[in-house]
Amino acid sequence: MSIAENIQQIEHELHGTTARLVVVTKTHPVAKLQEAYDAGARLFGENKVQEMVAKQPDLPTDVEWHLIGHLQTNKVKYLAPFVHTIQSVDSLKLLLEIEKQAAKHDRVVNGLLQFHIADEESKTGLSFAEAEEMLQSEVYQQLRHVRLTGVMGVATFTHDQAQLRREFQTLRGYFEQLRSRFFAEAEYFREISMGMSADYPLAIEEGSTLVRVGSAIFGARG
Ligand SMILES: *Cc1c(COP(=O)(O)O)cnc(C)c1O
Repeated sequence: MSIAENIQQIEHELHGTTARLVVVTKTHPVAKLQEAYDAGARLFGENKVQEMVAKQPDLPTDVEWHLIGHLQTNKVKYLAPFVHTIQSVDSLKLLLEIEKQAAKHDRVVNGLLQFHIADEESKTGLSFAEAEEMLQSEVYQQLRHVRLTGVMGVATFTHDQAQLRREFQTLRGYFEQLRSRFFAEAEYFREISMGMSADYPLAIEEGSTLVRVGSAIFGARG
């Protein structure tokens, strides 16, 4: 099936659910991103700063760019002029740098707190205790150019449906606890980014609001 057909199929599955589609475009050339755009996609996810910065000028300005990979503080400045959401916020230091760089452009950049939910050591992200500590800190209260809009997680690479479901439920539980304790008045705190090509139907059942789908749209990455 074509890129457009794949996107239409997924949008059909998302219809009537809480979830929106982030098309994960990493490794794919701009022509394919344009094809996805022409099929109606507007939320695009890249995992590398350099790649996002290179592609962004070639796409229409109403694309919402989401960074979904680990972000080093020294690279925030390259994204600050245009990035919509940094899904991989994993430290207070990073939040402070986003604040500083977004302020220079008089913008507000959205961030999602990335949690470690997989049982694999290699997968990055915060623990719940680390997130609580960040949100309670005084510096956090001062931020005006970065706005936390929810949480993100990458599940274990497994076919075990019960395990995937447990991990998605853990992330949703974190979201709900944080919302009631720190964001009770903030309607913008509403995103739960979970689910990829192999497991997004399950993630939607567990309350995902952003599914990040690459290979189910573009085919396997080379
Ligand atoms: C690559 C990637 C995805 C998309 O993976 P697919 O299996 O191709 O859908 C989603 N989330 C993150 C964080 C990624 O790095």
